[in-house]
Amino acid sequence: MRQHLKSKQPTAALNGSSVDVASIVRAVIENVQSHGDSAVLQYSEQFDSWTRPSFRLSQEEIDKAIAACPEQTVKDIKQVQSNVRQFAEAQAASLKDFELETSPGVFLGQKSNPIEKVGCYIPGGRYPLLASAHMTILTAKVAGVPKVIACTPPIGAKIPNATVAAMHLAGADEIYILGGVQAVAAMGVGTETIDKVDFLAGPGNAYVAEAKRQLFGEIGIDLFAGPTEVLVVADEHADPYMCAVDLLSQCEHGPDTPAQLITNSESVGRRTIELAEKLLEVLPTAPIASVSWHTFGEVILTDTLDEAFEVADEYASEHVQILTQNPRQALEKMKHYGALFLGANTCVSFGDKCIGTNHVLPTKKAARYTGGLWVGKFLRTTTYQEVRDEQASGQLGRLCGRSARAELFEGHARSGDLRAANHLGDQYEW
Ligand code: NAD
Repeated sequence: MRQHLKSKQPTAALNGSSVDVASIVRAVIENVQSHGDSAVLQYSEQFDSWTRPSFRLSQEEIDKAIAACPEQTVKDIKQVQSNVRQFAEAQAASLKDFELETSPGVFLGQKSNPIEKVGCYIPGGRYPLLASAHMTILTAKVAGVPKVIACTPPIGAKIPNATVAAMHLAGADEIYILGGVQAVAAMGVGTETIDKVDFLAGPGNAYVAEAKRQLFGEIGIDLFAGPTEVLVVADEHADPYMCAVDLLSQCEHGPDTPAQLITNSESVGRRTIELAEKLLEVLPTAPIASVSWHTFGEVILTDTLDEAFEVADEYASEHVQILTQNPRQALEKMKHYGALFLGANTCVSFGDKCIGTNHVLPTKKAARYTGGLWVGKFLRTTTYQEVRDEQASGQLGRLCGRSARAELFEGHARSGDLRAANHLGDQYEW
């Protein structure tokens, strides 16, 4: 039986939670569709105080941005990108084209090709999320995407130098200083200066996620990667201080971060609640993190660890941190999560910033039907077939004729009949 030691506080809901995000997003997309660059500029000024008429960065501006970064930052970007590349290359190597002979002379094949034009969104409203550049742009490049354009918002009406460095080093072909819905819309529908892309990738706030959702169909999208979520599964061996630190480390993403601790230890649960309050007193990002923790934070006590895994699976959270004696158990017990972080030596922040797995992950229970961003999302996996043997073609023709007629498709049937007539001498009439 599960018991809440700390519940969500819907009454403490955020200011602005009643905002109709979908309507705002629809209006921006429609305006960008009708008025192109001038609408994009108008929204950039309205939402991001960005008044520069050109949002594309020149090579000179990119070089200047990189030169303005501390040397160590550039080195770290390169090191993290090397970790991300290694993992993405291993994913690419796991995807093999193949051809199968299902019966003599009948060949079925599968072949993957990269999408031609991809748009990557690198968030930056609250923090310069430069790691998203590695996760999106670099992964697309490892998949072989020839053209990757990338947008990130200005921060404080300025170019975010480290983000631009990461975007360039990840291999972006064009870099735009553009944020939010106007960026997603510009890439999704195209403007005078920004090419319409075939596919959009990248995380973002509720506006960005909704814009991608509305554009889906017109273009492809990677997944629903909205505001960050964290869930910790802990047993009686877990350190409550670590539980509190790991929950709050994600709560600082934004005021809308759901955070849950699911534990079979009442003392770990209660102590984590106490410690979270103490930590919030000194965390510099507490003005954001405390809103998330107090509004969406939950601590749930279960009778057993197995039940804790069951509850965690129901949440289908983006990030799941396992702080138990045998963390690898989670690989067997759980199915629904964006990414698993196994054991006290690992943490969600490693995945967010540097370890090399992709940090663009499903939110709002999308983990029930998809994993996170990976090389395969940038590929079109297609099939082909060839019948080289005449007997096989005739036999398939007969099977096709019967199968098509069962569905009342006479035209399809005759296409099969023709092969049966050519190779097996069946009667054929059009
Ligand atoms: P962001 O870049 O996603 O959004 C900033 C933009 O939002 C601004 O440039 C502005 O144009 C627009 N905006 C802000 N207020 C608006 C309003 N009232 N109306 C219309 N547009 C408005 O940056 P952010 O806000 O810092 O959010 C980043 C998000 O990305 C966070 O929620 C974080 O949790 C999430 N994230 C998710 C993942 C994932 O994989 N799921 C990974 C990393 C980050």
